[in-house]
Amino acid sequence: MNRRDLFKLGGKIGLVALAAQVPWDWLERAGLIDAWLAEAATLPQNYLVQSGSVFCDTSLGLSGIVGHQVHDGTASWSVSEVTDPTYLRPSGTSKMFRAEVTAAAPSGNSTYRFDFLLNTTLTNIRSFHQPIHYTGDSGATMIWYLSQETGFSNYYVWNHVVDINQFGAWTNLDVSRHLPSQTVGAPAIGNTFVRLRCLVRVPANKTGVFYVGPIHTNWYSRPQVAITFDDGWDTDYTEAFSYMDPLGLVGASAVNGPGNTLVTTPLSVAQINEMRASGWTFHNHAYSHTNLTTVSQEVMRQEIRDCTNYFAGVGIPLDPNVYILPQGSRNDSVDEVLREFGYTYSMLSIGPGVPLFWGVPNPLRVPRIFLESTTLAAVKTALDTAERLGHSVIFYAHKIGTATMTQADFRSYMREIALRRDQNRLTVRSLPGIFTGLTNPRLPRNAT
Ligand SMILES: [Zn+2]
Repeated sequence: MNRRDLFKLGGKIGLVALAAQVPWDWLERAGLIDAWLAEAATLPQNYLVQSGSVFCDTSLGLSGIVGHQVHDGTASWSVSEVTDPTYLRPSGTSKMFRAEVTAAAPSGNSTYRFDFLLNTTLTNIRSFHQPIHYTGDSGATMIWYLSQETGFSNYYVWNHVVDINQFGAWTNLDVSRHLPSQTVGAPAIGNTFVRLRCLVRVPANKTGVFYVGPIHTNWYSRPQVAITFDDGWDTDYTEAFSYMDPLGLVGASAVNGPGNTLVTTPLSVAQINEMRASGWTFHNHAYSHTNLTTVSQEVMRQEIRDCTNYFAGVGIPLDPNVYILPQGSRNDSVDEVLREFGYTYSMLSIGPGVPLFWGVPNPLRVPRIFLESTTLAAVKTALDTAERLGHSVIFYAHKIGTATMTQADFRSYMREIALRRDQNRLTVRSLPGIFTGLTNPRLPRNAT
């Protein structure tokens, strides 16, 4: 293929798609790298596979829908269109609606409504999906009426809590068409439906701002899971690797140098090499497991360098992109040093039950979910949520075979993850793979 053909093909399918099909150095020689990077930067930073169909589109603007008005209650509302990319979800949406309660009602619920024009049966619809951003107090809801008539006599109702506790205030509604909250009159899915009414509601004495996105049907998303272990105990090999490898699961270990005297039985070089050969990755966790927020930048640098050098000295390159913070502790000074060393991501020890959602809002504060002192039911719930919302989850644990993490519990968690992988419900990735996949196809930095 010559340069002209390459440009022609790039124009036809896009440079990002092209890069997946031709050798990398072809792009390089053709001088297309900068253009490729620019195009790659516009890709959604997430794993949502946007295979759904638009059902109600806010991109048409307020004038593009049937109408909008106060539905009930005495709160004052201010309503407008939003084009600020911060609030545009999912990617490809050019406008969303903003509804702000500017003065709370002294009593009773207050509701604002947006009516969308439809002309469709519901027979081929499995689920509805809508992103809502809400900054306010608890108790807000989003309600949908899906009606056969403009006058709303025969319709389905779905009621959703708008969860302000979700990361970044986004609630990603994803509900089954088969399970309406209520049925009014006698609607039937084979009939033609002509209206969708979105109602945003706050209780008395509450203000807040809603950002209402488009509704898609039959959304498909694919959650990603990574499994990590801190402190480099030999049980990473004897318990985790030995059980996970036959299941086809990879993991990541955060390792210290011999300076971490708390780990009495660390992984051996031979064990690490065997794990690496199976796709496990190894991450800097400071030479002495020092809480980096408690020391000077000079000591931080020493801790990071000594750990890297110790492992390099025994022939083990640590991952250069993803750092795992000792005790999950960070501050601006720690971030600064990590950037100096070229780390793009650092792992907190625990997030507030928050999985990754629509990318990584703060790459130097990536939350993980604790796999110790938990139950199979809780792990299933975390995975269910990830599946429902297209989240990604990074789990973490320490030594296996302790009171907080028995061998039996650990194995039951791994079997659950492998089962869902085998059922084609999620993908298990290496820890660095989760991040490179977010902006796929971005080139990972090579270990040096
Ligand atoms: Zn640790």
